[in-house]
Amino acid sequence: MPPPKPPQQPALHALLERIQRASALRAGPPARLLAVSKTQPAEALAALHAQGQRAFGENYVQEAAAKQTALADLHLEWHLIGPLQSNKAPLAASSFDWIQTLDRPKLVSLLANARPPQRGSLDVLIQVNIDDEGSKSGCAPEAVPELANLIAQHPALRLRGLMAIPAPDPDFERRRAAFRRMRRLFEMLGAERNGIDTLSMGMSEDFELAIAEGATLVRIGSALFGARELKPRARPPA
Ligand SMILES: *Cc1c(COP(=O)(O)O)cnc(C)c1O
Repeated sequence: MPPPKPPQQPALHALLERIQRASALRAGPPARLLAVSKTQPAEALAALHAQGQRAFGENYVQEAAAKQTALADLHLEWHLIGPLQSNKAPLAASSFDWIQTLDRPKLVSLLANARPPQRGSLDVLIQVNIDDEGSKSGCAPEAVPELANLIAQHPALRLRGLMAIPAPDPDFERRRAAFRRMRRLFEMLGAERNGIDTLSMGMSEDFELAIAEGATLVRIGSALFGARELKPRARPPA
């Protein structure tokens, strides 16, 4: 395989401009960019860091671990955005700054008990299955309050908000409706609890729509790094 090319500088700049522009059309601070770096080598992340990007999203605990070791000196902000298997929860709790895919009660105590105290509390998002019946990831919207209650009992965890991966519906009006339902859930959660400030939704194809509907964090891979050449092989979830 030829060595992977580092990302082109203009990609990050152009993307940040699009995020700014979309954010200016709605209320609230501009959405943050999470650079989704699955399948990308550590050098590609380092190149983006050199351009000012700090937050990176990875799907697999194991794949991330190698990059986290290689890039430890850069003090990047690591977000887990892939499904989390219970047996990987301890490693994830110590190697990530954010877990965006907390979607069931069992993960709460596993993550809380494994968080090293010297790392401070672990930021978490509850992943909601907002419309994708084919997906096993994410809790039902009705399950959010109970999960939020459970998280609040663990000082090692800090609930920051919600995350969703709406079905890639070719009908953008249906996607918009899903984003809007997420925003409503997010506002309900924020009305009940302190510290709720993050709504993670929107990817390369639809981030402007997600921002219009209230996303505060967009997760972008291919629009930043180029299309992923290899489809991720069938692997067990992280
Ligand atoms: C891969 C992935 C992304 C980024 O997808 P792109 O279409 O490449 O921007 C965002 N969120 C999750 C959960 C992902 O798995």
